Amino acid sequence: MRLLIMGPPGAGKGTQATKIAEDFGIAHISTGDLFRANLSLGTPLGVEAKKYMDAGEYVPDSVTNDMVRDRLTHDDATDGFLLDGYPRTVAQVTELDEMLGSHKLDKVLVLTADTDEVVSRLLNRAQKQGRSDDTEDVVRRRLEVYQEQTAPLIDLYSSRGILVTVDGLGSIDEVAQRIHAVLNV
Ligand code: AMP
Repeated sequence: MRLLIMGPPGAGKGTQATKIAEDFGIAHISTGDLFRANLSLGTPLGVEAKKYMDAGEYVPDSVTNDMVRDRLTHDDATDGFLLDGYPRTVAQVTELDEMLGSHKLDKVLVLTADTDEVVSRLLNRAQKQGRSDDTEDVVRRRLEVYQEQTAPLIDLYSSRGILVTVDGLGSIDEVAQRIHAVLNV
């Protein structure tokens, strides 16, 4: 099964993605996690990515696409994967299409959540996890960038007939149940 999960920052994507990948026994490929792992190791890629992440902007495609292309070649991704946070732009969709060739995505899952709710979730998470991209200004910028650059992907994948939408508000288990229901398993 080849899946993509998308939704605004703070919609609970990461938590649900971890659960789905475990439940289906597929690789969880999160570009945000890959950037953060690089950052904690102090790699040049991590140092470069941090500049953009801290401003709430997207890391340039030249960095991001190659990182995903490489990750998809790992053995654990052969039988399926859940992409989390990639693609995030129309240009990245084109790039991913080319990487996947005939092994197209089976479903694209969109988690929805209203803006006030996601802002308060993100600020709450900032206090608990101390992520440097969770301050209020950066949170608002990340939401704007999502609306401008990532929300258009919803129509794009909808026109391909593979889009499913799930309400992201509720407990972790409630949302997980809704996801299982739309994935028909
Ligand atoms: P996330 O953990 O998915 O919220 O991602 C954290 C940050 O990593 C984002 O705000 C971006 O700065 C960067 N990032 C993650 N995925 C991508 C992507 N596909 N394209 C560009 N930047 C990304």
